[in-house]
Parts: sequence; C-alpha cells; structure tokens
Amino acid sequence: MESKKVSNFFGCDVFGRDQMRHYLPKDVFESVNLAIDENRRIDRRVADQVAAGMKAWAMDRGATHYTHWFQPLNDSTAEKHDTFFEPVWGGGAVENFSGDLLVQQEPDASSFPTGGLRNTFEARGYSAWDPSSPTFLIDDTLCIPSVFISYTGEALDFKTPLLRSIAALDKEAVAVCQLFDKDVVKVVPTLGWEQEYFLLDEALFKARPDLVQTGRTLMGHTAAKDQQLEDHYWGEIPDRVVSYMKDVETQCFRLGIPLKTRHNETAPNQYECAPMFEEANIAVDHNTLLMTIMRRTAMRHGLRVLFHEKPFAGVNGSGKHVNWSLATDKGQNLLAPGKTPKSNMQFLSFFVCALRAAAEHGNMIMASVATEGNSHRLGGGEAPPAIFSVFTGHTLSAVLDEIEQRVSKKALTPDEKTGIKLDIGKIPEILLDNTDRNRTSPFAFTGNRFEFRALGASANCAMPLIVLNTAMAEQLSLFHGKVEQLVREGAKKDDAILQVIREFITDSAKIRFEGNGYSDEWRQEAKGRGLKAMTEVTTAIREYIEQRNMDLFRQFGVFSRAELEARYEIKCETYLKKVQIEARVLGDMALNHIIPTALRYQNVLAENVVRLREVFRGAAIGMSTGEEQALKRISEHVVGIRELVHKMVEARKEWNREENVRVRAVGYEREVAPYLPAIRDHIDHLEMIVDARLWPLPKYRELFTM
Ligand code: ADP
Ligand code: MG
Repeated sequence: MESKKVSNFFGCDVFGRDQMRHYLPKDVFESVNLAIDENRRIDRRVADQVAAGMKAWAMDRGATHYTHWFQPLNDSTAEKHDTFFEPVWGGGAVENFSGDLLVQQEPDASSFPTGGLRNTFEARGYSAWDPSSPTFLIDDTLCIPSVFISYTGEALDFKTPLLRSIAALDKEAVAVCQLFDKDVVKVVPTLGWEQEYFLLDEALFKARPDLVQTGRTLMGHTAAKDQQLEDHYWGEIPDRVVSYMKDVETQCFRLGIPLKTRHNETAPNQYECAPMFEEANIAVDHNTLLMTIMRRTAMRHGLRVLFHEKPFAGVNGSGKHVNWSLATDKGQNLLAPGKTPKSNMQFLSFFVCALRAAAEHGNMIMASVATEGNSHRLGGGEAPPAIFSVFTGHTLSAVLDEIEQRVSKKALTPDEKTGIKLDIGKIPEILLDNTDRNRTSPFAFTGNRFEFRALGASANCAMPLIVLNTAMAEQLSLFHGKVEQLVREGAKKDDAILQVIREFITDSAKIRFEGNGYSDEWRQEAKGRGLKAMTEVTTAIREYIEQRNMDLFRQFGVFSRAELEARYEIKCETYLKKVQIEARVLGDMALNHIIPTALRYQNVLAENVVRLREVFRGAAIGMSTGEEQALKRISEHVVGIRELVHKMVEARKEWNREENVRVRAVGYEREVAPYLPAIRDHIDHLEMIVDARLWPLPKYRELFTM
C-alpha cells in the first residue's frame, strides 16, 4: 500500500528553504535567508536569481502562470494571473520571469476598497513581494505573497500594516528580552487560529436566495431540535464531511499549512479546524489560503462552506479564535512561564505588558473585529461578551495580587525579596492550571498564550494582530524605559524590573476579570470600571479615528492618519452596504416569495370555510372557526410584513440621501437594520401556519441535515 505519511509530501507545493537550497546558487540562498531573518531588503541582482530559481522550480512542476497574491481590504484574497510565456518578435516564444516581475506587479486594481486613498483616475496601486512568506503553487500558478500599496506608499491591504506591527514589536520586545538575555536578537508574534465554519448541501444552499446573496438566512423558524441535546459537538463526523475535510487537509499539507485538528462544533452542520501555530505573518497567509481552498473544495463535493458569523438564528455562530504569543529566535515562548526564577521574571515582564496593553487599548482591540456579520454573534451569550476584559486564571491572578502587595516603592529588604521569589516560583503551576478555562472571556490567558475569541469567522486575522502587536510594542517600550530610568537612579536591575512589574499590575487592574462575562453583575461592574460595551458597530469602529489610537499607530509606524481614516471609511461603507443588501434581499423575499405563498394558503383556507358552511348549512358552523382564526392571523402577518417592508424602504431612501458615509452608516445601523428582525418575526410565524408543502424555502430542519 502506498504510504500516506503526511511528512512525505508536507510543503511539496511551497518554494520553501529546502526547495530554495536546491534551486538557488549558495550565495543567493544565503542572502535571501539573511534578508528574511533580519527584515532586510533584497537587492535586484539577488531578486533576479531568486526569480530564475522560482521559475525553474515552478515550471518543473507544470506551472505556466504566476501571480502576486495579496489581501485587499475586503476579507478575501486577490490574484491576477500572468503567463511566463512571451512571444518573441520574429517568431517563437520564451518563458520569462525576471526579478522585476517577482518584486513588483501593477494590478489593474481600481475596484478594491481604498477609502478614498487612491482616486480611480489617479495612479494605480501596486503589489510588492513579501519574501518573509514563501511562494507556493496552486494548480498551474505560482503565487507570490505580496503587499498591496498605493503609489504614494499608503497601505491598501492587511499585510503591510501587519508587517509594520511585527517589526515594531520585534524591536521593543528584543530590548526587553535583553534585560534578561543578551543573546536574543529577534522576537516574532505567533498565531494559532481556530477556524469555525458551517457546511451545507449545495442544492439546499442554492434554494435559499438569502444564503446565496448574503451568506446568512434572513428568515427561518427554529427547528424543533437543533443544538439543545449537545449531541453534535465532537460527535461522529459524517462520512461526506470527513471526505471533504480530508481533501482540504491534503491540499493544505501540500501547501505547508500544518492543520492539526478537526471536529464537529456545537451547532448542527458546524465544524472547526485548527493548525499548529506559526509566525503570525505566515499564519495569516495560511488562514486566508485555507479559506480559499475550503470554498473551492466544497463545491467539488457538492457542498457549500459558510464562514458567515451567524448563518442561522437561534444556534451558535462561527468565530475564529486568535491564539497569540511571542517567540524568540531561540524558540522560546515569552508568554510561557519558565523553570528558573529569572525566566519567570521575564515571563512576568511580558505578561504584565500584555495586561497593560489590554487595559489601555481594549476598545481598539474590539473595534478591530467589529463588522456587520460579527454583530449578530458578539455579546449574544454564545460568543464573547462585547465588553473587553482579560482572564488570567486563578493561580496567576493570586501571584499578581501578591506581588502587587509585597513590592513597595522603596528598595526591598532581603526578606521581602525571598517572599517574592517564592511567589514567582509558584508560577509554573499555572501550566497545571491550564484546565481553569473561562469560556466567557474575550481575552483569556491559557497557560502559554492569550486566546482572543471575538474575531469573526469570515474576517482576516491580521487586524486584531496589528492592534495587539502595536499595543504590546508600546507597553514594552514603556516598560524598558521605566526600568532603565530606575537603574539610572541607582536601583539594581532586578529590583527595578520588579518595581515596574508591580506598577503595571496596578495600572491594569481594571481589565482583569475572572467571573462570568455574560452576567448582568459584570455589565454593571464593568460600567463602574469605565469599560465600554462595544455593541454598536458604527460606534465601535470610531476607535479607528480616536486621537489616542492615531497617536499609538503613528508612533510605531504602523498606520498613518490617512490610512486610519481610510480604513474607518471602508468599515463604514462595508457595514452599510451589507445592511443595504440584506434589506433588499429580505424585502424581495418577503414580497415575492412569502406573501404570495401566504395568500395562496389563505385561499385554500377561505375555500375550506365556505365549503364547510355549505356542507353543514350553519348547523355545525363552529367547525370552521380554527380556519377562520388562521385566516385572520395570516392576514395580520401579511399586513405587518407589507407595512414594515414599506417603512424599511423609506428609511433606506432617506439615509441614501445622506452624503457623508460615516453618518449614513450610523443611520443604517440605527434606523434600517432594526427592520430586519421585525420583518423576520412575522415571516417565521407564517412559516408555522402555512401548509409545509407550499412553503417556498427549505426550512431550518431541512438545512440541518448532512
Ligand atoms: P482550544 O479549542 O482548547 O482552544 P485548540 O487545540 O483547538 O484548543 O487550539 C489551540 C490553538 O492555540 C492552536 O491553533 C495552537 O496552535 C495554538 N497555540 C498553541 N500555542 C501557541 C503559541 N505559543 N502561540 C500561538 N498559538 C498557540
Ligand atoms: Mg480555542
């Protein structure tokens, strides 16, 4: 039997280090590696030789095309394929791929969201090779991970600011590491995502115009049985789904995506997959690539994959957990407690910086995940609450409290030091405390990393990472500065570090919460602590243009003011367009599918009432009252739907006249969006009255089959 060992073919479609060693001259191979490790530019001569090696590798594997592959601001990926082949003047043809073509491509990309940064009539944007993420092969096309920027240098994508935030974090984190270990020269953020999704039979999917057009059902009465028995979570995976998952996994393994787990999730038809964590930049690329592979593969299996955050009301929606940590070039996880007091001090330093980053920039972290789709999931008692807080776990929380109490501002006595050392010595226990999980916290420390749980399933992971990395860079810079200051004032380094740790614990007190994030008591308490509930999308995303956030991103070279303004603008526009599309689809379905069906059934009932009267000549008139009541209820719902659809259309017209997109988005959220659940409510009631054979849409109970 042929061996199915994954290690035999893992990464075989990637131009990784092994392939490079084979296809590049030794000195070129070395300078590329150096450039990647030290974030340095690759000069043109080297680029030419890399391009030649890449082309040879790709063509050996049957490639005919290449493309710059990038992530524009619409949560998908973009590619424009060009052939290697070029006709030669006077006859014949050659396969051409120079360093210039590798390094830069000018896509005719006038239709990506730019938030006004790049006027369509002005210069185009261009894409540029990101050597830190390896090129890969899909079908006959060599894909080159790239950034996408305007000619004036503004980022028009997710990768550019992500790379900037990674560089900022690297610099500040190395400085703090060097307080403990002079040998550390590089720190990278790590990301392990967990991707939730739904699978549906393609025929059923296509029979639902709402799913086709908006990615979620805009109507549908709850099925009698969905997730109440909790029999789906980690249940047997249906054969059809397993064969889909295996197909996806094989493609992922070939592309070097280290998928580790697959299982059923809570809701019917809901599943999850997760990889081994990787460097954040590569992990983000791998997640976007995975989503593309999943979409394409589903169609080959007669399935559709839904990444929407809330495809079905009444059952759980889909998120994408972001497991985030920091690793040194020595492979040390900086958010994992160590075995020695020194490594635990280092762990604590990084840990309190993360706490203070969360305390200072929690609102911006939440803003980074605020989207129309996610608004149906967040705060719903199934996903994290809309209030940002950090769960540290019992053991660690106790240690932090102890340190805060024991370390005073003055120099420490030897006894005090011993006491603190004992506390710090307890820290490794938190690894045993790993089971102490709090599922209601948006940002939970899980023993060796933070798990941010508020990102939506359809979103690019980059945005919350950009905020986390930058906010962390700021705190590390502050931490380092304060330690140096104390040392200059004569403190011993160890004492200085402890002092600053204590200070950061005090400063971040408001963000720590160990209790139930869904409870009313927490909502009250959070208010008292000055923590905002980020429930409205258009309010949450205003954080993008808050002065303090603009200052933060500018200080670390991650976003310019113009870039943030543009992103805010795009967020507003995307939000309102999504509501607009949903409102149109719902209006259409209500008037053209649901009301005609209701009227048809009304006629059946009306005829039945008349017949009964004829047959029984009034003697048994009571027999028709059930039908009469049903007739009346149908009429009420039909009238209700007509009225609400009319009002919704009027509200849209009114807000469409508003020229400022920021104001228009708020109008749509407050005055258009609320009609959707109201109209749905009437429709879902009708679904329970009308003859099932007449109902024009597959019902939830039919969708929930596999
Ligand atoms: P759970 O469902 O309990 O959260 P999973 O095993 O499904 O756990 O997911 C854990 C995720 O955390 C995986 O993607 C894993 O790679 C990731 N992870 C583990 N360690 C780190 C780390 N140091 N940095 C980033 N992510 C990590
Ligand atoms: Mg998780």
